[in-house]
Amino acid sequence: MRVDNLHKISSQIVKENQFIFSEDLNIKGMVKNPKLAKSIQDVSWYELIRQLQYKSKRNNRVYHKVDRFYASSQICNNCNYKNEKTKNLSIRKWTCPEFGTYYNRDINASINILNQGLKDLELAV
Ligand SMILES: [Zn+2]
Repeated sequence: MRVDNLHKISSQIVKENQFIFSEDLNIKGMVKNPKLAKSIQDVSWYELIRQLQYKSKRNNRVYHKVDRFYASSQICNNCNYKNEKTKNLSIRKWTCPEFGTYYNRDINASINILNQGLKDLELAV
């Protein structure tokens, strides 16, 4: 069931996108952290990334991992203010004190990963 679902997700992502970016997460290290281990294994990140990689290759898509030390969750995607407080994973939403934007943690991080990925590939406008 789970693997089947992952295949659906990875196929859709590859079908709909020419460029696919993710963080180069230290999954093995994270699984050793008991607080993170269960949720990571539940969503099978490792398997999802594996599928994205080979399906991207097969479909002439570009799959690229952003450096794991890039602080995607801490940086405001509008003004680059770095909010160290968001190192705390329980903070799911925050407001940038400089720009005033209210962020969902994951959405802000995904915009940063996209922007950084485009920069890495020298495609940023
Ligand atoms: Zn900001």
